[in-house]
Amino acid sequence: MKIRFFGTSHGVPSAERFCSCTCLEIGDRLYLIDCGAPAVDLLLRNGLHPNGLKAVFFTHIHGDHTDGLLNLADLCNWYFKESAFDIYMTEQAGIDAYKHTINVVEADIGIDEERIRFKLMDKNFVYDDGVVRVTPFPTTHMSYVGAGHPSYAYLIEAEGKKLVFTGDLSHNMKDRDFPEIALREPVDLTVCEMAHFSPEEAEYFLKDYKGKKLLFNHVFPIEKLERIKALDGKYAYPIDILSDGDVIEM
Ligand SMILES: [Zn+2]
Ligand SMILES: [Zn+2]
Repeated sequence: MKIRFFGTSHGVPSAERFCSCTCLEIGDRLYLIDCGAPAVDLLLRNGLHPNGLKAVFFTHIHGDHTDGLLNLADLCNWYFKESAFDIYMTEQAGIDAYKHTINVVEADIGIDEERIRFKLMDKNFVYDDGVVRVTPFPTTHMSYVGAGHPSYAYLIEAEGKKLVFTGDLSHNMKDRDFPEIALREPVDLTVCEMAHFSPEEAEYFLKDYKGKKLLFNHVFPIEKLERIKALDGKYAYPIDILSDGDVIEM
């Protein structure tokens, strides 16, 4: 399995970083975790074809995790007609908005819902296509907006490996919503955000983390980088920072 980091920025892109978007490549099957970067362009630039895409999983509805979806879904609807994939969104209003926009910009053909399959997920959702198993864990990142705005971390299991993507975590460290499974099990890798707390506040989960490696992305403000680098070597597992274009093979 290859994990390609298409976008590693926080809520705002920079000269070197797109917003959140990660591509899992397992054989000839592709999956996206969040779509805050121009995913269809990045697939093509990396020699991958949208026809290989099987599913897109969103951690939450914020634009830095979703804004690249419109381009992907629109192009796959009208041009890449061999493509067919599921899009797991966290809010029905988001599904309605994207479907509506595609129907507006492609008024002559409308959305082909047999191929571009928007689906609402919830905390009981488990995706398993025999190649990858994706299990969500609720976080409290969106709780400040009010009820009806869920957010999730994901456990991804494929080829005997276990990866955790935290998505965005709470703005309030008192919520302690770093995924519990990574404090309990020796997962192979966790990709953790670093925008809503400080490297020092991360101590509560870093000290109990049972995984083999931990990588930070979604870093804001960028001045944190040196303090994050200083964390490596403090614990029994390596810690590093992700950049756009990084590829990890597991
Ligand atoms: Zn974000
Ligand atoms: Zn967010």
